[in-house]
Amino acid sequence: MNKPADASPTPKRLPSLRGQLSLVLGGLALAILSLVGGYLGNLATDELYRAQQAAVHATAESAAELLATELRNREREIELLSVAPYMVEGTLDSALVRGALDRRAALHDEFAWLGVAAPDGTVLQATGGMLTGRSVAQREWFIAARERVYVGDVHEAKLLATMLPAQPNGEPTRFIDFAAPIRDTEGRLRGVVGAHAHWRWVTGLVDGAARRQQPGSGIDALIIDRQGRVLYPEALKLAQAAGANVLPKVANDHFDGELVFDGKTYLTSEATLQAHTSVALGWRIVARQPLELALRPVRDLARELVLLGALAAAALTLAALLLARRISRPVEQLARIAERVESERRIPDFPAKPGAQELARLSQAMHSMARSLLDTEHELQQANATLETQVQERTAELQSANAALAHLATRDPLTGLHNRRSLDARLTEAQALDHRYGRQNGRVHGLLLIDVDHFKRVNDQFGHPVGDAVLRQLAQMLQASVRVTDVVARFGGEEFAVLLPELAGPLEALMAAEKIRTSVAAASFPEVGHVTVSVGVSLASPDDADMRPLIDRTDAALYEAKRGGRNAVVLKTVDDVN
Ligand code: GH3
Ligand code: MG
Ligand code: MG
Repeated sequence: MNKPADASPTPKRLPSLRGQLSLVLGGLALAILSLVGGYLGNLATDELYRAQQAAVHATAESAAELLATELRNREREIELLSVAPYMVEGTLDSALVRGALDRRAALHDEFAWLGVAAPDGTVLQATGGMLTGRSVAQREWFIAARERVYVGDVHEAKLLATMLPAQPNGEPTRFIDFAAPIRDTEGRLRGVVGAHAHWRWVTGLVDGAARRQQPGSGIDALIIDRQGRVLYPEALKLAQAAGANVLPKVANDHFDGELVFDGKTYLTSEATLQAHTSVALGWRIVARQPLELALRPVRDLARELVLLGALAAAALTLAALLLARRISRPVEQLARIAERVESERRIPDFPAKPGAQELARLSQAMHSMARSLLDTEHELQQANATLETQVQERTAELQSANAALAHLATRDPLTGLHNRRSLDARLTEAQALDHRYGRQNGRVHGLLLIDVDHFKRVNDQFGHPVGDAVLRQLAQMLQASVRVTDVVARFGGEEFAVLLPELAGPLEALMAAEKIRTSVAAASFPEVGHVTVSVGVSLASPDDADMRPLIDRTDAALYEAKRGGRNAVVLKTVDDVN
């Protein structure tokens, strides 16, 4: 049961199923993860970026709206004050007017000063009595308010600067002015009511709107006037006044998107103060957020996504490895079982729970295949064993038949001695041996021919079966009286031959012949009594061409023994014949 040489290639060269599965599953998981993660990440970061933009825009809008509303309300307040009955009808320097102004100032602490001036510009009454009697005839607000309700741009305090407490941050005191004409019932100008609101009230409103955004967002708001001058914050205003380019150049004079302020990039958005009837300052609120801060949540999200992605990738890879192991393990197990079937020649335990329908089928198929293979092998082995014993039996029978045949071919059936054919073969053999060794040791083979004397009479007197018995007894006697290396044969009828190999000389042959003759003569044969034999003796000669001359010489010697009176031994040499 050797493996064929061209069996499957060594499995080590091929990548393992487990490795391939891990690679494919893990790769697939990672690819999907990075695709989905990347897509979601992009969506989320876009969304976040837009949200930051919206927050900046909302700051600008709400600051602008708040400021517009508050300015409008102050304007209304002054307008309402100008049409109060004590303004329209009473004396304008009365204590009543003073009280009304003081109440207003107390109610709204953004008002630094409220006052009423005569049509010529002389201040008649004012909060805290400040500037009473002084002239404001040259002031813009006074000039404008002689005609209509007025809201003025920011300006630094002039006369009041010394009378009011200094600004806590050291900035110069700035105001924006509200003013309205006071007319009598006929519409004639009686005077002008004016108010200076603190600039810090305005900036406070804008800052408040910016502060309402997420803490730490870094959003601030700028106030820019119609001419593109920065009104707030103070630092930018000062830098601009000193000639620095504090604002970026923008297309169509609109601050929007990512803009660089003094080397630093900001997300920006602007909103214009809605123009009211008289509030038409043309201010713009520019909200801005350092891009770095705006992108921080985006970066945080990206980092979290990467971290999450790495964790998910690790988990997926692990899952892929486990899954691959789960799939490949039963296959490996079955392979091991198959190897064990091959090496141990028995059916090992198959997995009880193969884990999947297909694997169960495979396991079952392998089980029955292994069983049928082993059964077939067993049957083959048994058949083989039976065949072998049969062959052995047949061989033995054949051998004994052959042996019997060989015996039959070389033996005489009556006496069991060598037959004539066998004797001839031995004689030829002996001649060959003499030829090969005889020259060295001087030994030759000799032949005795033994003939029973007057055997015809035995037959005639006692019958043929008794004659046969005599022949068998003689055969036994001959066999017993020669050496084992001598060959005793039945030469024919009642004649026997004895081949004597390796004789030192004729005397040896004569002695053997004489021993035979005397022992026969001395022996007693049942019913018959005594029998004698005549023996012819001769030795082989190197000059003999084949066995024929030796047989002839021996026969001649036997003939002489008969002629000489029987029960005798006669030697015939080559010289005698020639
Ligand atoms: P001698 O040799 O002394 O001259 O006389 P003989 O009587 O032995 O000579 P012969 O050759 O005339 O006779 C041989 C006899 O041997 C004749 C035959 O019947 C007998 N004979 C030959 N073969 C057998 C045999 O196988 N069995 C028996 N019973 N007799 C045999
Ligand atoms: Mg004879
Ligand atoms: Mg005879």
